Amino acid sequence: MGRILRWVLPLLAFPAWAGDLPDFDTPRAWEHLIAQCRFGPRVPGSEGHRRCAAYLEETLRATGGDVVLQPFRTRPEGFPEEVEMTNVLARFGPSGPPILLGAHWDTRRWADEDPDSTRRDEPILGANDGASGVAVLLALAERFATAPPPVAVEIALFDGEDQGSHGSPESWCLGSREHVRRRVGTAPRIAIIVDIVGGEDLRICREEYSETYAPWLNDLIFARAQALGLQAFEDRVCYSVYDDHVPFLERGVPAVDLVDMHFPQWHTHEDVPGSCSPESLGQIGTLLVDLVYGGALD
Ligand SMILES: [Zn+2]
Repeated sequence: MGRILRWVLPLLAFPAWAGDLPDFDTPRAWEHLIAQCRFGPRVPGSEGHRRCAAYLEETLRATGGDVVLQPFRTRPEGFPEEVEMTNVLARFGPSGPPILLGAHWDTRRWADEDPDSTRRDEPILGANDGASGVAVLLALAERFATAPPPVAVEIALFDGEDQGSHGSPESWCLGSREHVRRRVGTAPRIAIIVDIVGGEDLRICREEYSETYAPWLNDLIFARAQALGLQAFEDRVCYSVYDDHVPFLERGVPAVDLVDMHFPQWHTHEDVPGSCSPESLGQIGTLLVDLVYGGALD
């Protein structure tokens, strides 16, 4: 009896997914995008940032995931003083090396691409650059509460990605770099970062660092996107972006960045919900549901 239970219980807890995959809840992802924007800009050290951190933690705890906060203090370039930052992490599914799905939740302190030069020193709202990737991952985590993933998954919401200055790679991705530096225990099998994935005219192509260091993972992702009929995915190599996948690549973890740098409102005051679309979040969410439950990464 004991022996049988040892075999049967894990199977009951984590069934291999048969038949239709769970749906991605696109309206729910959109609610998470709006909810983050209601806090205003989420610049490290601000009230909006503090309130959003609490929202992320509360939302992930409610899913029953194993939540870990990773706080750290640092002074980003151009900030007058040190600020508190926090990576918010949650584990789901069986034990073992997880598939890490990451997004940054901080928003940029400057609208340095805004056409109005008098407003470039004001913070952006970051509906797309900040809230979109997080919104997809929160809705996915809520799906895990009702449909436990058959593989180990770690959701990682990184702080301090977007406070850097151009020409200085080390000034970006502060949270993911801190995470990789401090990580103890099992390294992720792979990492997939989603960033700026909510734009109305979403276009995702093969980011260059990902393509150079993890081409097989890009092959797999773009093949699945095509099989699923996801129109936003264009199977060609485009630009290179220093994003939260780079610290993982530097540690030898295969990592891909799904990022839309075609977004015309990038780092401007027009990065608002009106420039985004639920349908775009749905395309990314559908892909991630397929990767987690569909067996392509087994
Ligand atoms: Zn940005």
